[in-house]
Amino acid sequence: MARNPRFDALFEPVRIGPVTAPNRFYQVPHASGMTNALPRVRAAFRETKAEGGWGVVCTGAVSIHPSSDDSPLPFATLWDDRDIRAHALMTEAVHRHGALAGVELWHGGACSLNRTSRIAPLSPSGMPWLSTHVGFMGNLRPRAMDRADITALLGWQADGARRARAAGFDIVYVYAGMGYLPYEFLLPEYNRRSDEYGGSIENRTRLVRELIEVTREAVGDRCAVALRISLEELRAKPGRNAPSEAHEVVALLADLPDLWDVKMDSSPTDCAPSRFAAEGSHEPIIDFVKKLTRKPVVGVGRFTSPDFMVSQIKRGVLDLIGGARPSIADPFLPKKIDEGREHEIRECIGCNICISSWHDGVPVRCTQNPTAGEEWRRGWHPERFAPAASSDGVLIVGGGPSGLECAVTLARRGYRVTVADGAPEFGGRLRFETRLPGLKTWGRVADWRLGQLRGRANVSLYPGSEMGVDDVLMSEHAHVVVATGARWSRMLYSTIEFPAEELAGARVYTPDDLAAGVEPEGPVVVFDFDNYYLAGAIAEDLARRGRVDYVTTAGNASAWTFMTNELPLVHRALGKAGVAIHTLQRVTAFDGAEVVLGDVFTGAEKRLACRSLVIVGVRTPRDDLYRSLEARGAELEAAGIRSITRIGDADAPGAIVHAVHSGHRFAREFESGGATGSYTRDFPI
Ligand code: ADP
Ligand code: SF4
Repeated sequence: MARNPRFDALFEPVRIGPVTAPNRFYQVPHASGMTNALPRVRAAFRETKAEGGWGVVCTGAVSIHPSSDDSPLPFATLWDDRDIRAHALMTEAVHRHGALAGVELWHGGACSLNRTSRIAPLSPSGMPWLSTHVGFMGNLRPRAMDRADITALLGWQADGARRARAAGFDIVYVYAGMGYLPYEFLLPEYNRRSDEYGGSIENRTRLVRELIEVTREAVGDRCAVALRISLEELRAKPGRNAPSEAHEVVALLADLPDLWDVKMDSSPTDCAPSRFAAEGSHEPIIDFVKKLTRKPVVGVGRFTSPDFMVSQIKRGVLDLIGGARPSIADPFLPKKIDEGREHEIRECIGCNICISSWHDGVPVRCTQNPTAGEEWRRGWHPERFAPAASSDGVLIVGGGPSGLECAVTLARRGYRVTVADGAPEFGGRLRFETRLPGLKTWGRVADWRLGQLRGRANVSLYPGSEMGVDDVLMSEHAHVVVATGARWSRMLYSTIEFPAEELAGARVYTPDDLAAGVEPEGPVVVFDFDNYYLAGAIAEDLARRGRVDYVTTAGNASAWTFMTNELPLVHRALGKAGVAIHTLQRVTAFDGAEVVLGDVFTGAEKRLACRSLVIVGVRTPRDDLYRSLEARGAELEAAGIRSITRIGDADAPGAIVHAVHSGHRFAREFESGGATGSYTRDFPI
């Protein structure tokens, strides 16, 4: 198909200093969790995006010196010449597809706690970064940099830039964002110096200016020099002669960098979850930059709509459409627009599971794109599939995330696929969960897959078809995949962090009851020891109709959502909804009028008025069908059924990302002759 001329502007080349981006699709630097220890995994991950049409593909943070050591969080290094080869693997891979390769040179300053290198963290004035999350806390306060430290830092940046050029990068970054060292110099809270690097905005900008200058000197006219800068805090500070200090910094540096890469300051606003922020949420902060520079500007905003992207260009907000999450969810997003297939874009849902991978210290995982991070080690290409090895038919029972993903992948391989679900509509858990506050965008998981399945000659879809054992036996498929999901249980939580006995009684509910339409009588207590999004979203939803108390065994509401940048926003939303939050408490009893709570450490009791208790704790597989089928032994053979496999939550209950990956893995491995679950191990160069 031909490209819609409406989107032509997105395919114009853009000059960035001495290099030219072939189009406006720019994969900004983002963490991949892959480090120099997984060079082939990393090169293939980035290459796939170049192949998918991204005109520029960048690395994540690349440390320039051991005094910038984020361990145990993953980061890459260009500390000496031995690091060059690992990066060259990525630049060569990106160049094979005509894209430019960018490198985000990085010094973390007071935010790098140097747990491995054990060097005192560096900072403008000895001001620490004070994390609110224990995983990021450290006990070593930073040292104030003297002139010799500043000279050394400029040298490390120059050395890093020279190595970056040798590795084949086209765009080399100075990174003054997200709390890291050059950013700390810009902000008066961190920078309390009285020398020429502190005080006035000109002085606070001096280090960034010098970093740009030494980088340019190091790379000569071979590479462009980009400045990545966070503008949220600076924009909130009134300027002397301009609306804000952000305006002043941009005006001072105006045409010095070849490219402005502009962003927000903290992960929850920079990489804002869709629950709390819409596409394009950075615009009110960064909209002014283009007016103050003649150099191209790139920015992000979870852009997945090509019309939205064009409007950014036409309205003069951005020159290049930055993408991190949209490029993970669909590495082929630009190509699909170019080929008039924009309706096929697998749109990012803004769940931030990808970010959680970085917090977990592992290679990136994505809810929408199960092939992310698997390109090299499992050989999974997002758009290419091994053809079917037989003409066998596959029956998939259950059309939730795992069943639908399995169906799409088998269908793309060419298998004859039938999906049956007892519910009147496909989507599984998403049918209920997307009705909760902020979760509508997550419906894209089902919508994209159904869009891929509908209209395919080799796919039959049967909603409203509850399948019993006999239905399966009569279905005339050689292979049966059971994707029947999981059930929430009424289990409580024991003092030693195990699930305890189930709580019986009237008006004790689980999310399944709410999904089935139960309207709990208030006041309601929501007891959460699942710790992800669901209990918080349910509490927020129920609070629209009456009093809700939210109780958790953890120290925060929806504690695991720290990993997805949602936690501060969950607290804000619950506060706004009037939900009372009780942390470090477990429910010990409920008599229909009151719930008894026990402090998880001291056991101290307190009581809350409660007519309905919603327990969001443990899920168990809904595998009755699977077990009943297994028990039929010889009858299966007689019915021509050669395999029965459980996938997704029916196999092991998890988040949607796990269910999608499980469904995809089954479909990739099906009749492929490979060992189940195996992958090739990468090793450092
Ligand atoms: P997952 O996350 O693993 O995809 P879900 O719970 O989201 O699991 O989806 C499971 C789906 O399976 C639900 O839509 C449910 O209606 C369907 N299902 C469960 N048991 C049967 C059955 N016996 N016959 C047909 N559909 C079923
Ligand atoms: Fe988007 Fe979620 Fe995938 Fe991240 S994990 S890219 S937020 S869909």
